[in-house]
Amino acid sequence: MHLHIPRSLRFRFFAALGGLLICAIVALAAISALVIFPVLQAEERGAVKRELDRVERSFQLEQQQLLAQVRDWAHWDDTYQFVQGDYPRYKDVNFSQEMFEDMRYQLMAFFNKAGEVYFLAGINPTTGNYQTCTTPNDECAWMESWVNRMQAAIEEDKADQSAIYADQEPVMVSSTPILRTDRSGSPAGWLFKTRNLDDEWLSFMEEYTGLPINLSLIQGAASSSDAFSFSGNTVHAERYLPIYSPLTPASLGIGIELNRTSYLTNLTTFRYVLLWTAVLMVLVIAVVLLLLEKIVLKPLRLLTQFTQQLDIHETDVHKLTRRNDEIGLLSRAFQEHLTCQQQLNEELLTLSTHDALTGLPNRRLFDQRLETAFNEADATSGSLAVMMLDIDHFKLYNDHYGHPEGDVCLQRIADAMHSLAQTRDFFIARTGGEEFCALLPHTSPDKARDIGEQLSAAIDDLQIPHSTSPVKPFVTISAGIAMLQDAKSQSPSAVVSCADQALYLAKEAGRHQVVLFRQPLASTEISPHNTSP
Ligand code: GH3
Ligand code: MG
Ligand code: MG
Repeated sequence: MHLHIPRSLRFRFFAALGGLLICAIVALAAISALVIFPVLQAEERGAVKRELDRVERSFQLEQQQLLAQVRDWAHWDDTYQFVQGDYPRYKDVNFSQEMFEDMRYQLMAFFNKAGEVYFLAGINPTTGNYQTCTTPNDECAWMESWVNRMQAAIEEDKADQSAIYADQEPVMVSSTPILRTDRSGSPAGWLFKTRNLDDEWLSFMEEYTGLPINLSLIQGAASSSDAFSFSGNTVHAERYLPIYSPLTPASLGIGIELNRTSYLTNLTTFRYVLLWTAVLMVLVIAVVLLLLEKIVLKPLRLLTQFTQQLDIHETDVHKLTRRNDEIGLLSRAFQEHLTCQQQLNEELLTLSTHDALTGLPNRRLFDQRLETAFNEADATSGSLAVMMLDIDHFKLYNDHYGHPEGDVCLQRIADAMHSLAQTRDFFIARTGGEEFCALLPHTSPDKARDIGEQLSAAIDDLQIPHSTSPVKPFVTISAGIAMLQDAKSQSPSAVVSCADQALYLAKEAGRHQVVLFRQPLASTEISPHNTSP
């Protein structure tokens, strides 16, 4: 039988473990979103920053090298004399297109101590031709914007450093005052060297750093923080360096492009770990629920059925009571309790259906048996005799011998009746104080009368003295018998009433006799048993 228990343990366990699972998955998701993913992203940004640092250091190294080269030239007596007009052959000896190309210089500018242009040499970025001039005009007009910026730097006292200048293209510029080789005396002027940050330079840097680099000119001051942009499997990062620009601030963005392989691999690995953790949790909870069902819930349901005395197999009861756990203990305790209760019930039933003094069935049981016998007779159209028996002058007996002796007498009579009932296979009960009733199914009137007489004789045989009885000097009984005529029209109580009437007649007729009730009342048949009162 299926038991429906609202809010059953199964439901509670399912709800609790399901809730736990949801909490765990939410916690995993929260930890991933708030801790793991930010850590992975920060680590990726850190790695990209380290690459940017490396590129910036390479850039700075280039600047330092250019500055060293400028100082090498500027702190030289020949240069010192040249800017003072004392060494006219200097430019023929030292400058050539090959030297500019070898050293990757674009422009070399010499200024006298007044900051005026003294000599300019460079490779025209448009034509690629080597040119020398004393003013940035005519074919050297392309030098003008650079020269102006250099003169501004001299004026601002920023001409002893490496910097970035930008016009259409960015250039690396190093400058220093011109001194004697032994650094004595005052500066005779300034020397500037520029190196174009063109594609050639970029491919050189790429070779040097192993990273693809691109440059961009940006209006406004250089931002102190790097910029990152992520798209698919690549990340673009940019660092900003200040450009020397006297009028409007500008900056140079050095960008690199990197593969996100490491980050994406970490992410995929972590997602796998997350997925498997979740799957494992679901599996563990499913197994826990399954075990709970098998070990606890199913036996508990069986135990409930057992306690409710529902339809339960004997083997299941054995399984329950043989268990070595709490459910086993509970089952055994319940089984003991049940056995004890069954015994008590049986005792109670016996007590409620039997007479305490004689041990014979009482009126309640008699009524039940009468009902059953009546129905059976009705169903089988069989015969049924009801006999009422009563001790003669028992009041006198009590009066003479006392009530306790009367009880003993009742017990002896009951025993004698019970013995005969057993041997002749009929039912007899004590239905009143000194009154008994017998049920005789499948019995003919003659046979019923015969049994009545046997009962009376059995009591006679006891020879219980009754000195005050007007019938006999010993205890006697009278009996009245009624036959069930028609179960359809008669009731059980009507048959009993007829037996009672027959008993009355037996008493009236002098007692110690058996009377068979016959209709009409006038035609009663009195047993010849009492012929001698
Ligand atoms: P009759 O021959 O007409 O039946 O006369 P009787 O005296 O037997 O009938 P009556 O009904 O007048 O008295 C029945 C007596 O049975 C009265 C009562 O004291 C006695 N009696 C009933 N139950 C018990 C019992 O349990 N123990 C004893 N000792 N006496 C009982
Ligand atoms: Mg009586
Ligand atoms: Mg009596």
